[in-house]
Amino acid sequence: MSAQQPPRQNRPPLNRPLVISTWKHGLAANDAAWKVLSGGGRALDAVEQGVRVSESDPQVSSVGYGGLPDRDGDVTLDACIMDERGDCGSVAFLQHIKNPISVARRVMEKTPHVMLVGEGAYEFAIEQGFTKEDLLTDKAKAAWKKWREKNEKQLKPEINIENHDTIGLVAVDKKGNLSGACTTSGLAWKRHGRVGDSPIIGAGLYVDNAVGAAAATGMGEAVIRAVGSFLVVELMRQGNSPDDACRLATERVIEKNRNWRELQVGFIAIDKQGRFGGYCIQPGFDYAVYDGQDGNRMLTPDSKVAK
Ligand code: ASP
Repeated sequence: MSAQQPPRQNRPPLNRPLVISTWKHGLAANDAAWKVLSGGGRALDAVEQGVRVSESDPQVSSVGYGGLPDRDGDVTLDACIMDERGDCGSVAFLQHIKNPISVARRVMEKTPHVMLVGEGAYEFAIEQGFTKEDLLTDKAKAAWKKWREKNEKQLKPEINIENHDTIGLVAVDKKGNLSGACTTSGLAWKRHGRVGDSPIIGAGLYVDNAVGAAAATGMGEAVIRAVGSFLVVELMRQGNSPDDACRLATERVIEKNRNWRELQVGFIAIDKQGRFGGYCIQPGFDYAVYDGQDGNRMLTPDSKVAK
């Protein structure tokens, strides 16, 4: 038997279209996504156009062109995308291509696969007409050289500081369809070949058109252990608001990671009605929200560790 609809006056108001994304560079990404959404476009196009802005901006040192390199000085990129049909595509450990999100979309649309990595992902991108580019900017190279001079034995990323700013962006369009995108250069100074949560469907991003969409930022290893974004969506399916779902998923991350006090993880989520929310372990994480009611603005979610 199908579930009964609640009486019309008790149904939550619809707030769509809507787009939300992680960190300050989310504002510019939201602007691009909003152009698509407000014109009646598809959420999938909006999320791709949105995160391409951060990927292409050399000032954003944690995504795409201008991203900080790994410990060998190579910029290696991870990205994934997912649409309202549950179709998804992903690339990981991809080098020399400025907009990995668009390669991920081609993986989704042009191959029977979900994920391509490294050399194979690069060859596929070239085959699809993408251009080989040098992604290491002078600024990122200088930062890498400075880090190398310090000769640190252990990789200890600083909480909330530049090496932590993946863009995860999720949107619902006028028709009520959901999509999401997530893209990053990963942790600065990571071991060559390291891949975090961001290109992993269910960890860095998840979309279920019947329920909602979620994305993660922060220490990828910790998010993977809890299959974070999938968990947020499942918690919304059980009736939790986006805020509560993000909080409960963060608590699961804490349970699964003994060293949680030393790391940051943040989640953002939207549901089908256009409700949104976020939560994080450490204060300092914020996210950008663009809707028809209040325009584009930054919001600070609650955190496990007190401000
Ligand atoms: N989640 C990304 C990674 O672990 C980085 C970040 O958002 O801080 O690669």
